[in-house]
Amino acid sequence: MDNKAPKYLIVTYGCQMNKNDSERIASLLSDLGFEPTESDKEADLILINSCSVRKSAEDRVFGRVHDYRKLKEKNPNLIIAVTGCMAGRDKKGEFKAKMGPVDLYFPTSDMVKLPRWISELRPDLVNTTDLKSDYLKIRPLRAPSSQAYVSIQTGCNNFCTYCVVPYARGFESNRPAKDIMDEVKDLAAHGVIEITLLGQTVNSYKAPDPENFSSNNPYVISTAAERSINMSSRPQRRDLSEKISPLHPENFRGSGRNDRGNHFAALLWEVNQISELKRVHWTAPYPSQMSDEVIDALTLPKQVNFLHLPVQSGSNEVLRRMNRKYTREQYLEIINKVKAKRPGIALATDIIVGFSGETEEQFQETVSLFKEVDFDISYNAQYSPRSGTLGIKLYEDDIPAAEKRRRWRVLQELMEETALRKNQEFKDKTVNVLVEKIQDKWASGNTDEMKLCRFPCHDPSLIGKIVPVKVTLVQEWQLMGNIVE
Ligand code: SF4
Repeated sequence: MDNKAPKYLIVTYGCQMNKNDSERIASLLSDLGFEPTESDKEADLILINSCSVRKSAEDRVFGRVHDYRKLKEKNPNLIIAVTGCMAGRDKKGEFKAKMGPVDLYFPTSDMVKLPRWISELRPDLVNTTDLKSDYLKIRPLRAPSSQAYVSIQTGCNNFCTYCVVPYARGFESNRPAKDIMDEVKDLAAHGVIEITLLGQTVNSYKAPDPENFSSNNPYVISTAAERSINMSSRPQRRDLSEKISPLHPENFRGSGRNDRGNHFAALLWEVNQISELKRVHWTAPYPSQMSDEVIDALTLPKQVNFLHLPVQSGSNEVLRRMNRKYTREQYLEIINKVKAKRPGIALATDIIVGFSGETEEQFQETVSLFKEVDFDISYNAQYSPRSGTLGIKLYEDDIPAAEKRRRWRVLQELMEETALRKNQEFKDKTVNVLVEKIQDKWASGNTDEMKLCRFPCHDPSLIGKIVPVKVTLVQEWQLMGNIVE
């Protein structure tokens, strides 16, 4: 074997979950003796972690693969690997056929087989057949930071008609609470002060090992008597047709709770007990699983003053067609409870405009819901049908592109006005900022409301610390101010 360490380059597209998966792959490769490189020409292995949420994301992946295949013509030893959501949902090999030959092409969960595959392709670099059993057990390799993302589950059981995730990542699978807590404690011991728990529907988390929750955890039902009361009050088995009806009342706030209480709220409580941690954040919850316990957990001391709760549409008819398992009224009921429990909380959401069949009236219901909730920010998208989803099979994509763009602009303008007005509430107030970086003598980081804040700063020792900043100027997307000495 060559004495020089082999090099890898990972190119990641998409969400935080993908970034976290890339950190697991980096950890696997590092265990094999690989070192990271930024240069594709220097790499022995280039791995693309793909995203399939929109066609534009897929097109970027095709472009990258094309570039690296050209590189391989000059360097035939180069291993090109593609994983992530495109490979995960490509059951018929249609994407693969469009990419042309790549050396490795596998769903995320198969990353455990990478050591064996690499040693088959390049025995001069790696000689191992070691396999890990579960990719979620691989501890991610992260760059040193005061912030970290921790996946607590993967996959999704909801099958929203526009979404590829259940096809790409499979059914929901939850990590043991003990594994999650060990990882968070280890991160906290190494300087992480802000943790973000990640899951496709993070608040539906069910611990496979609830016995590992603390006996004094208020969200866990610990006595046999209490368990049996809770068991008897659980919904009984229903007729399958009722079960798949998205708006069936028992589908609302049913999950996450079982005979040991509410596991997601319990996990939040456990994480809050870690003294070195200062901030706890989580994304993305699903509305119908915002149980009273999870809403109550918004008041835990380290919880950021922020909730991102995707709504997607304000029209019950569109929600039904999207197979979202709540109504406009139920969503608003949750928001009202959240506001009552934690007044002043910043609210964010995701909205899709121009979903199949969305009338102008239905779009206006989304606009009115936006106004009623008074979101701080919304991530607005124009509907883009994805192959393989139920949406493309059931409904025609009948809203013209120009009309989708118009609706998107209407919402975008509303959001910009609202964001500025809401940010003005912070003028002359002092906010807590976790300093992420200092560039050109300006520090930047997020407040407790997850709003970007910038202030003049020359002191690099503040990176990774939470500092008070008095806000002097506000814009739509940022607050600016001065550190309070
Ligand atoms: S809840 Fe819906 S949108 Fe979210 S990951 Fe699951 S299927 Fe996709």
